[in-house]
This record gives sequence, C-alpha cells and structure tokens, in this order.
Amino acid sequence: MRYVVVSGGVLSGLGKGVTASSIGMLLKSLGYKVTAIKIDPYLNSDAGTMSPFEHGEVFVLDDGGEVDLDLGNYERFLDITLTRDNNLTTGKVYSKVIEAERRGDYLGKTVQVVPHITDEIQDWIERVASIPVDGNGDQPDVCVVELGGTVGDIESAPFIEALRQFQFRVGKENFVLVHVSLVPVVGVVGEQKTKPSQHTVKELRAAGLSPDFLVCRSEEPLKDATKEKLALFCHVDKTHVLSAHDVSNIYRVPILLEEQNTTQMIVDKLQLEMREERPLFDSWKKMADHVDSLEKEVTIAMVGKYTGLSDSYLSVIKALQHSAFKVGAKMNICWVEAASLEPESKESEPEMYSQSWSDLQSADGILVPGGFGNRGIEGKILAANFARVNNVPYLGVCLGLQIAVIEFARNVLGLEGANSTEFDEDTPHPTVIFMPEGSKTHMGGTMRLGSRQTNIQTEDCVAYELYGGDMEIHERHRHRYEVNPDMISQLEGAGLRFVGKDTEGQRMEIIELEGHPYFFGTQYHPEFKSRPTRPSPPFFGLVKAAFSRIE
Ligand code: GLN
Repeated sequence: MRYVVVSGGVLSGLGKGVTASSIGMLLKSLGYKVTAIKIDPYLNSDAGTMSPFEHGEVFVLDDGGEVDLDLGNYERFLDITLTRDNNLTTGKVYSKVIEAERRGDYLGKTVQVVPHITDEIQDWIERVASIPVDGNGDQPDVCVVELGGTVGDIESAPFIEALRQFQFRVGKENFVLVHVSLVPVVGVVGEQKTKPSQHTVKELRAAGLSPDFLVCRSEEPLKDATKEKLALFCHVDKTHVLSAHDVSNIYRVPILLEEQNTTQMIVDKLQLEMREERPLFDSWKKMADHVDSLEKEVTIAMVGKYTGLSDSYLSVIKALQHSAFKVGAKMNICWVEAASLEPESKESEPEMYSQSWSDLQSADGILVPGGFGNRGIEGKILAANFARVNNVPYLGVCLGLQIAVIEFARNVLGLEGANSTEFDEDTPHPTVIFMPEGSKTHMGGTMRLGSRQTNIQTEDCVAYELYGGDMEIHERHRHRYEVNPDMISQLEGAGLRFVGKDTEGQRMEIIELEGHPYFFGTQYHPEFKSRPTRPSPPFFGLVKAAFSRIE
C-alpha cells in the first residue's frame, strides 16, 4: 500500500481536498486502485450534528455515514464508494480508545495520547486503506490521506505525530507527503510572498515531517524566483514546488498538476509504474475543455437558507453542474432566500421580497433542496406552488418533496393548515409525520440514513425513464419525517403520483405530477451519487426540462 498524505498550512479552505482528489485521480489514471481517508481533527464523532452553514454540507455515504464533504469530492473524482470509516475524527479515535480502556485492554497501563491514541490512528489508517471501494472488491493500491485543519492547530497535533511515526511503520518509500500552502500577492508590485509557506513548513518539520511536495495556491502561476525561494527555505526540491493557481474549472486541477510533471515525480518517489496510455486522463481533459466551451446557460432558482457559504449545498451544486454539462449548458444557480418569498418580508424587507420573487419567476427551473428547521418553510411552499401552477420544472429533494406534498395538500385538496409535524406539531392535517425509527432525544446518527432501495411502481412514469428502465434503484437517505401513509390515497386521488416506494411499500420515495412538464420529488438525496459524466437522474431531469424551455 502506498500512502499519499496531504496536509495544509496557513489557512483553511485552500482546496486541500481538491488537490488530494486530483492527485488520486492522476494515480488512478495509471491503472492503480485509489482510496481516500479524510482526517477531521474535531471532537464530534461525525459531521452529522454539525451545521452545514458553518462547516459545509454533511455528505452521506451508502453505509449511512454522515461525513465531511471532502468525501464527496473523493467519490466524484475517483468514482468510488467510501465507508463511514474513511472519515476519521478525533471523536472516533478517542471513543475507540476509551472503550478499549473500559474493557480492560490496557490493564495496568496509563493510557496516553502517545502511544495509545497515535497507535490507534495508525491502525485505523492501515485498516481502512485496504477496504475495497471500487465496487469490484479489489483491495486498493494507493491511499490518499487528507489531514483536515491546518498544521500547527492544537487539535491536529496527535494526528501529525501519528503520521510522523507512520512513515517509518510503512516505510519511507511508500509514503509521500504533499503540503498545500498559500502564496499571497501583496503590494503594488504584486510580489508573490513566500513567508507564510516558510512558516508552515517550519512548523511541519519541527513536528518531524518534511514535505516531499509543496502545492502552492496562488492567483497567478508561481514565478520561477518564487519557486526557487520556496525550494530554498522549505527544504523541497525546486521541481517539487507546484503551482496551483486559479483555473477556469475544477477539472483543470489534475491537468495543471500533470503539466508540472507531478504524476511522474510521485511515481518515482513511490516506485510505481508510469504508463503511456491513460484514457481516464484523456477523458478528463476532454471534460475540462467541454466545460470551458459551453456558451448557453440554464438558470435554476435554488430556494433555501443561506449564509453565504455555498459549500452548504455542495453536492446539490455539483449534481446541477454535472447535469448542465450533459445538456450542453453552463449552470447558473440563482440563490433565493426562502424566507424572503414570504408575505411578511414584503413589509420588513421589500427590496429582498421583490428581488426574490423576480429571481424565482425568471428562472428556468426551481429546486428546493434538503433542510431542517422552521425558517423559510412557508417561502418554500410558495415556491413549490409557483412551480406547480405555472408549469415550471421543479425538483424537490427530501424536504423539497415534503414541501411539494404539503403544498398539494393545502392548495389542491384544500386542507387548510396542512403541514409537517416537524414545523407544526398541532397541524389539523399532518401531511408529513415523524418516522417511528427516528429519535427525538438523540440527534447523532438517528435518522433514516444511507442507501435504501426504492421500487419504481410502474413503467409509465418519468422516474422509470430517468433511471434508464431500472425498477429497483438505490439512493442515499437522511431524514426523520415522511409523507403520512394515511394520506396517500387522498393525495393520489387528486393527481399526485407516488411512483417510487420502499420495498415494504410503506415509505413514499418519489412523487410526480401528472400533466406537468417536470414536477418531481425524492425523499432521498440523489445528489450524493452524481458523477461528472453520470449526472444524477432526477437532477438531469430538472435541468433538461429547464433547458428545453429556453431551447
Ligand atoms: N427535515 C426533514 C426530515 O427530517 C427533511 C430532511 C432533509 O431534507 N434532509 O425528514
């Protein structure tokens, strides 16, 4: 097993995840099987209880793991299926060690960060690296390990120490360290500053780790003199100082690294074999060019909760983009703050109100993504109503499906006050209700989570077509509430179709509306399985329908 460890310095959000995924993709293009582990040095067991508005989206895996969004990047870039254990957190490591201590595994010993925590980290990495992820059951050849946070944080210290020891455990020839840093430009002359990188490498080296490669995020390509200086002060070969400057689209990142001979240099360091023919790499290049060549644009209004962090809906954005690339258009996402559509905001923030409505009205399609909590619910219901009544393509994901059903119950069945018990416990018409297997006292890992089978009920529906004629589909879930089974026949009687159900026929998974160009809702989150060249079917359906309005 070869390990490519990717650490980061200076500040977070430098694109460490994309760098790590890109390197993984380059190695995969040589025919190697690549897996990935993300280390998050926070105390939470997993990302499930963290706010997406602070920390970015919670990504959901097949096995129900609620993990960091970087695992989504890995799945998309490497076209693999990861497990919850591929996301290692301080919380998980400590739980495991403390559990072992209670069992008496260390009887007589003082349990310490070194060696007990650091050993557990190394054991974890070695164990998880060998889990097959490509669907064929083959053990991976290379494991990319991304260390979250920035070097120097108190939180990441045990992991740094574990990785320091790890290079000896696995042998230095099987271990390559890539450090991602920032090269800012300051002043009128536009000088590229190397000092932040010097400092972070110093920190790394003080901890006993020396980077083999330095990947420098910058606006413009690194100048030769900058590279020279970084090489000199950071104890890295000049050819190993890589420029990761801004590019036109994300698919260009692996290409950018390839152009600087990165693949060959990693191959040399890890004693792997280079290959002339690399169809996977060629198709990436094609994809990157295709994305840059797009001229037409399709606009989707995304009606959600916003705090300015677009990472909160990362996979949804990706699924929309993948779909747009396939129809041959650029994806323009128009963010609509759901609460601003509500009548109250007409008084409190009239400009936002009219802007939001005009955005909604001018979009080619409308999307209501997943969500929790009360804020903006009425606005979302208004958006679904607008889409239904005006024949605007609509996709509702998870909460978005529930919203569409509530809207239908209120305005088609005339059930005033129909709602989800999540938002109104005393609603006279509980249209969406709490699922028995959920928990109201424990929030972590207690939803209906992960991959579940949906049975398509009939060949005569949009879902059947979108999913390429499959009657059994598997998508990922993350919810506590569901459409009230007692209301199905009433809703169906009025024209709402439940064309996808779970294997017991109890849970409503897909809704469609007869006679509408595209009105689709899924209780599951299809965005998590979208791939650049294989867009998620429900998203593709939305974008295709939206695009055909322009065409
Ligand atoms: N809040 C809703 C539920 O728990 C929807 C969840 C979601 O959109 N992921 O069922």
